[in-house]
Amino acid sequence: MNTLNILDKVTKTLKCHGVEYAQKEAKALIKEGLNISDVEIYRDNSECNEEQLSIIEEMLKRRVSREPLQYVLGYEEFLGLRILVGQGVLIPRPETELMAEQAVKTVKSEKLKVKSYEDKNSSLITHHSSLNILDLCTGSGCLALAIAKAFPDAQVYGADISEVAVMYAKENARLNYMNNVTFLKGDLFEPIKKFLTSQFSLLTFDLIISNPPYIKTADIKTLQPEVRDWEPVIALDGGEDGLNIYRELIPAAKVFLKDNGILMLEMDLGQAGEITKMLKSSGYTEIEIIKDYAGIERVAKAKKKTCN
Ligand code: GLN
Repeated sequence: MNTLNILDKVTKTLKCHGVEYAQKEAKALIKEGLNISDVEIYRDNSECNEEQLSIIEEMLKRRVSREPLQYVLGYEEFLGLRILVGQGVLIPRPETELMAEQAVKTVKSEKLKVKSYEDKNSSLITHHSSLNILDLCTGSGCLALAIAKAFPDAQVYGADISEVAVMYAKENARLNYMNNVTFLKGDLFEPIKKFLTSQFSLLTFDLIISNPPYIKTADIKTLQPEVRDWEPVIALDGGEDGLNIYRELIPAAKVFLKDNGILMLEMDLGQAGEITKMLKSSGYTEIEIIKDYAGIERVAKAKKKTCN
């Protein structure tokens, strides 16, 4: 069988199993499985040997069982970064790319300072001399890594409760040659508190960002099978109203933000009102809601201001 025959066969099989973008996915599987380019599928149309056929067969079997394409391929692209993913870690979404872009824009427009006044008082505390950014519920590390790439002089921290996620995040940092990111395992700010203690200094942030689990528990069963049956429920389930993590994170973040520091949170359709209320009652100012490409209110942004 040559590559065009395979493309045809894989496309048909995927279609039969209800995969929406069958031909696009078939191409992706063939390119990855045979390590060839788009052009080579058509131009060379090479004969495939038994071993190559069985690689494709194996990938196809996984995909028709509705395992997400990205798990089968082993990665997803995120703002030009290759992010490894697999069972136990959430696949980066386009709306999170939007949040990363917004975060980069915010750091630039707010001119989040490179030096805080504490620097002048201590030459020992090196962490204060940099732009400190924290990504909670970091998962694969995609947000932390995209921001770290945009600001090579920043110190970026990513934390996640899942050991598997942190393992992926660390590997993603290594594969993308990113050495200004530190990934820590633990629940929300817990690992940051521990990290501080071991450094004997208080680490505060110019920007705290998070894409927490925000799906209502009752809605999990309505998600597409790729998400519902394969992606980690811990990265999706936000409790009865989807807002459990926000209730904890929003007030706690104030302790870890510098004055004028920014909090940015991804959220689901219909959550902007409640999240705005929480931000207000925790005393944040300059609350802004940013819509995604589909027109859905997707990102909440707010400032911590202690001095007027
Ligand atoms: N955006 C993801 C989805 O659509 C959910 C991720 C999350 O809960 N933060 O399934």
